[in-house]
Amino acid sequence: MSVRKTMRFRDYHVRTDATAEPVRVAVCVTDEEHCWWTSGERTRADDVTALIAKHANETGHHCYRRTATDYATVEPGDFH
Ligand SMILES: [Zn+2]
Repeated sequence: MSVRKTMRFRDYHVRTDATAEPVRVAVCVTDEEHCWWTSGERTRADDVTALIAKHANETGHHCYRRTATDYATVEPGDFH
C-alpha cells in the first residue's frame, strides 16, 4: 500500500490597511488599583497626548500605558 500526500502552499500578502485609521488608547497606570482613567479610543496621537497631559495636570499621575492598533488586509497569492 502506498500513500501519497500532496501539500499545497500558498502565499498570502499581508499589508497595513491604509483606508482604516489606527486606534489609539491611553490608560493611566500610575496606581492600577485606584485609577482607571482612559483616554477612550482616538485616531490621532496628538489627541491622546493632550488628554494625558490634562489628566496629569488634574491628578499628578505620571505613568500611562499607550497602545496603537491598526488594521491589516490579506491578499491570496500564488500556489507553490
Ligand atoms: Zn490617573
